[in-house]
Amino acid sequence: MSKAIQAVRGMNDLLPEVVERWQRIEAGARDVLHAYGYREIRLPILEKSELFARSIGSQTDIVEKEMYSFEDRHGENLTLRPEGTAGCVRAGIENGFLHNQIQRLWYAGPMFRHERPQKGRYRQFHQIGVEAFGIESADLDAELIFMCVRLWRALGFDGLTLQLNSLGTLECRAAYRRELVHYLETQRGKLDEDSLRRLDRNPLRILDSKNPAMQEIIAAAPDLFEHLDDASRAHFERLGDYLRQAGVAFTVNPRLVRGLDYYTRTVFEWTTDRLGAQSAVGAGGRYDGLVEQLGGRPTPAAGFAIGLERLAELLALQGGSHQGVRPHGYLVLLGEEAERQGLSLAERLRDAGLRIECNGGGGGLKTQLKRADRSGARHALLLGEDEVRNASITIKDLRDGAQRSIAQNELIDFLLGSNLKNKEDKATADERRR
Ligand code: AMP
Repeated sequence: MSKAIQAVRGMNDLLPEVVERWQRIEAGARDVLHAYGYREIRLPILEKSELFARSIGSQTDIVEKEMYSFEDRHGENLTLRPEGTAGCVRAGIENGFLHNQIQRLWYAGPMFRHERPQKGRYRQFHQIGVEAFGIESADLDAELIFMCVRLWRALGFDGLTLQLNSLGTLECRAAYRRELVHYLETQRGKLDEDSLRRLDRNPLRILDSKNPAMQEIIAAAPDLFEHLDDASRAHFERLGDYLRQAGVAFTVNPRLVRGLDYYTRTVFEWTTDRLGAQSAVGAGGRYDGLVEQLGGRPTPAAGFAIGLERLAELLALQGGSHQGVRPHGYLVLLGEEAERQGLSLAERLRDAGLRIECNGGGGGLKTQLKRADRSGARHALLLGEDEVRNASITIKDLRDGAQRSIAQNELIDFLLGSNLKNKEDKATADERRR
């Protein structure tokens, strides 16, 4: 046997059990997003490399060492998107839907970063991203946070922590950066390797360092908050008011800087203490300068992204049963004539809005019942020689083993009656029958 090929490191298969958990998150998120008037946009996974250098920043970790970039057959430099905001802004400028308009958008899909894979950190991971354009005031920042809160509640997550900071305008951040570098230069001898590397290129990121040896230096660093311009400060205070008014708890973390250059004013991050080192489940902020930076007219904007792998892990830790979609009935087919009639019977049941898994590939009664059990269906529907002859069907309740025989033309009503306790199923079935 030749050696089996394995998936690319850091890129995961999502098996059906896991997908079902994801679908709960996706459905929950969709409901919340729609409740706030956000509309879905679908964007390419591949973009020109330049887009990310110009938005995320050429000196950031992502652009410097994490992008999956390559030259295509015509020598064009392309990159698998490491995040969604840049592409969304690019699409907005290109399609002309940003200028002088308010747009509330969301998207979902894979992102790619060549990071060191570990639990909760992958090279292909998935985000739901939310971007809103055209609103400068802090009520938008609050809205984004309220949406997260509502989603956590819908998923039953408690204990998530919200950290908040303001980076001010690009100008005041530049002034702060100079002062920070000046301070860090005086500490050069004590900086670790990572920080030395960042000192010239992205010194703000040093504030993010998790290295215990760096904490004292970081604690004594000049405070970004003290460099905020008046308007940014007022914006931040307004946001704080909105959150307090709504009873949303938060902590201000003056060291929260985020790894992307485009943020201005508000930045925030949601963390949990249940996922170990990869504790951030979502993050975002305001990026008022980005549209212009990418060639559009000045447009205020803010957004956030949540990480599906980490949320799904939280959901798994929470336990409980998250049964996905199961068939209402599993059709057991015994004998040639039953097999012949089975497919069309299954179609009729599906026409009535039922989910039916039909036995395929033959097999004896025992084998087929085993498969029926494994399918998760509530009922096995047995069609054998006798049933074919009498136009009947034998129904075996797979929970208690009870068995009964009814006429085939009563089957739909029976299954609808006993399976469709769920309101949504019932509505779908009623609609189909109409
Ligand atoms: P970011 O785009 O870096 O602000 O990340 C937003 C969210 O995406 C984070 O809070 C994580 O939940 C998730 N995320 C970012 N990078 C990864 C990764 N490499 N693997 C899994 N999830 C990630």
